[in-house]
Amino acid sequence: MEQRRKSTVVITGASSGVGLQAAKALSQRGWHVVMACRDLSKAEKAAQTVGMPQDSYTIMHIDLASLESVRQFVNNFRASSRSLDALVCNAAIYMPLLKEPLRSPEGFELSVATNHLGHFLLCNLMLEDLKNSSAAERRLVILGTVTHNPDELGGKIPPRPDLGDLKGFAEGFKAPIAMIDGKKFEPVKAYKDSKVCNVLTMRELHRRYHESTGIVFSSLYPGCVATTALFRNHYPLFQKLFPVFQKYITGGFVSQELSGERVAAVVADPEYNQSGVYWSWGNRQKKDGKSFVQKVSPQARDDEKAERMWDLSTKLVGLA
Ligand code: NAP
Repeated sequence: MEQRRKSTVVITGASSGVGLQAAKALSQRGWHVVMACRDLSKAEKAAQTVGMPQDSYTIMHIDLASLESVRQFVNNFRASSRSLDALVCNAAIYMPLLKEPLRSPEGFELSVATNHLGHFLLCNLMLEDLKNSSAAERRLVILGTVTHNPDELGGKIPPRPDLGDLKGFAEGFKAPIAMIDGKKFEPVKAYKDSKVCNVLTMRELHRRYHESTGIVFSSLYPGCVATTALFRNHYPLFQKLFPVFQKYITGGFVSQELSGERVAAVVADPEYNQSGVYWSWGNRQKKDGKSFVQKVSPQARDDEKAERMWDLSTKLVGLA
């Protein structure tokens, strides 16, 4: 009897937190997971710790901060002759205590380079691989966050994200420029700005390519996964109190396992076949644990901004 081909998903940043749990959940659903990670031995240990069967995953190197590394990853993936059925852009860094910006190998501010520019290049390159897949449905999912959205409690805390007119991008985004809007370096805002870019990228991918390719593009807010390593660069006291605050005050707390299940559902389950949308399970607005399509922030639904972000990012990553 002919064996059905396993679907393949690439997940960036699958060595910890949400990405690792998503990898586990998708392997349990019968997918082959390509764990795209910067630390190969950490990823191997992580996969073993959560009990992923050896033949359910492959680990491949990517450093999303480096455009060259992203291109190399795509070449290596293609050399593996696997078909790509889904791509999950999950990796991120959050460095709230930095006084001065760190720089990527190409000279860009590091958090926007990692969270946005690396993924922007990866999405554009791997669109080709998704198009070539024979799967009935192909999906590209980008992780969002509530902090991108000042309409939500979690997004009201300053500094608020603001891409301005993307002056920093237009001027090349290299030193001394450290912010997309070209203003003074603020590390928390840099993270939030990068997550606005993630949502704009998803919406622009949808506008440009959904109709012609049938690929489903979506984002999600998996809930506040307050125990992940994302907060490792924060004050130790913050790391202690944040989960408690999220559990008892905002109600947004979710476990790492549940966040991974949510990502896996958006990648694989038939009810998540809508393109161009942002899924949420809510914070205060609980809907009995059910997901719903949430309106994104005014900035993230600004079509003109999306186009400008797209054009400038295309130049910065060398696709123009
Ligand atoms: P995490 O545990 O810190 O995981 C981040 C992952 O990204 C790690 O695997 C990390 O690799 C990887 N990574 C970082 N820089 C990289 C680079 N240059 N190249 C390749 N991989 C890199 O954080 P998390 O909480 O799971 O966050 C995952 C996603 O969920 C992010 O997009 C975040 O914005 C989103 N999110 C999180 C929350 C939350 O409350 N935690 C809420 C909403 C959305 P290493 O293991 O090598 O460090």
